[in-house]
Amino acid sequence: MIDAPTKLLIDGELRDAQTGRTFTTYDPAHGRDLANVAQAGTEDVNAAVTAARGAFEGAWAKTSPAKRARALNRLAQLLDEQTDALAELESRNNGKAKWQCAAEIKVAVATLELFAGTAQHLYGRSHVVNPSVVSYTLREPVGVVGAIIPWNYPLMMAAWKVAPALATGNTLVLKPASATPLTAIRLGELALEAGIPAGVLNVVPGPGAEVGEAIAAHPGIDKVAFTGETSTGRRIAQVAAQSLKRVSLELGGKSPNIVFADADVDAAVIGSLWAIYYSAGQSCEARSRILVQDEAYDAFASAFAEKAKSLSVGDPLNDDTKIGSLISRSHADKVRGFVEMGVADGGELLAGDGLSLGEGLDGDAFVAPTVIGGVANDSRIAQEEVFGPVVTLTRFADEAEAVKFANDVRYGLAATVWTGDGARGHRVAQKIRSGAIGINTPFIAFPGVPFGGFKESGYGREQSIEALDLYTETKAILQGTSPKAANPLGV
Ligand code: NAD
Repeated sequence: MIDAPTKLLIDGELRDAQTGRTFTTYDPAHGRDLANVAQAGTEDVNAAVTAARGAFEGAWAKTSPAKRARALNRLAQLLDEQTDALAELESRNNGKAKWQCAAEIKVAVATLELFAGTAQHLYGRSHVVNPSVVSYTLREPVGVVGAIIPWNYPLMMAAWKVAPALATGNTLVLKPASATPLTAIRLGELALEAGIPAGVLNVVPGPGAEVGEAIAAHPGIDKVAFTGETSTGRRIAQVAAQSLKRVSLELGGKSPNIVFADADVDAAVIGSLWAIYYSAGQSCEARSRILVQDEAYDAFASAFAEKAKSLSVGDPLNDDTKIGSLISRSHADKVRGFVEMGVADGGELLAGDGLSLGEGLDGDAFVAPTVIGGVANDSRIAQEEVFGPVVTLTRFADEAEAVKFANDVRYGLAATVWTGDGARGHRVAQKIRSGAIGINTPFIAFPGVPFGGFKESGYGREQSIEALDLYTETKAILQGTSPKAANPLGV
């Protein structure tokens, strides 16, 4: 057990759940209980919505955009100063390498700063409709936002929702994943310390089926911002439809990584390792299908498998660990099941058998970086989101087939194209139905760059100016300018 915030944060107060219930959250890498956390129920969601509504109509509504920006920048500064402690908490709760958690906290800092900068630039448009009428538009906050986030980038995903929502004047009820509630509660505490008024950011850890559904259904919540699995997003959209609340969805992926024979193979190997194995493959934008042109296939496959075997898997708190544990034993079992299925369906295991770990780690929660070669693009392992350090290799003959395979999947979140032909890179990028495509770079998510999905990867764009549309309503105001009263009925 560690010293970490474990209560609900409602109306500026750390509280026990009204039922008194708690749940245990774990340190998956070491196979230990980490903390007992207050488990919110529907009555706590009701209290959080009441607090958020009160703050929306009260203290936060009275806060000028400049003051909102200042508070967000202060919150960014607090996160920045406490990166090490937050990264340790995140790493223990998630199993991810601590240096990766620290990098993600810096992204959260940059995200808060990005949106702080937009708070004073929420411009509308003016328009002379005709000689007698002028109109202008206002961008007003949607109201109370229910934010439901996953466990794979806990604090960063919270910041992706909290920053644009608060910059535009909304208040929030934030539900972290039960596997990783700790840094979200800490974020709520730091928001208070940064001067964000009580009730503006409420945090209610608890089970998705109860607390998440209560948020999606709540008539006092105006918008749900969700990140998680496609099946959960579909359910949330259905529940939210009853009250016609606004919904934005950042969902799953099965993103392609296309290596043409004219690419710099060394660069493609190094970049492709990052694109799948960062966060132990538990990334929505993981490029988990490597498509390789026939002529380059053998050279790429052997070089990639060698490098994959060389990645150090181990204690997430060690600086030289590249791959920590997965989020839980049960998730690791699911990932191992996918590997067995991929091999049973005719794939060749090029890397991934055998894992030697140091003392004190729970081996059942770890999966070695795995490469399965010779996979058909329509096989299950190439179509379903594995969400672990597992990548498939599939051959293609030419550009048309590469594009066909890239798009032949229900998701459309990300893609990478490796080629020495600049025109081809852009041509292929234009044909791929995905929200973000890297050409000769594995990095596709930066504050300032739109992030979101096509197809069953969801709708809405975060991390960029487009996100302001997700958190504002446009209001048109019209003014008569004629000196004579209009008399359209001629009475
Ligand atoms: P998940 O869908 O199981 O859970 C996400 C959140 O939804 C959790 O807080 C959970 O408690 C809650 N939830 C579960 N059932 C619910 C319900 N019926 N109603 C309301 N809320 C409910 O996802 P996960 O396993 O935590 O995260 C992994 C998934 O997230 C992957 O599919 C991944 O691709 C996706 N993801 C997408 C993005 C993106 O930006 N597109 C980013 C990160 C993760």
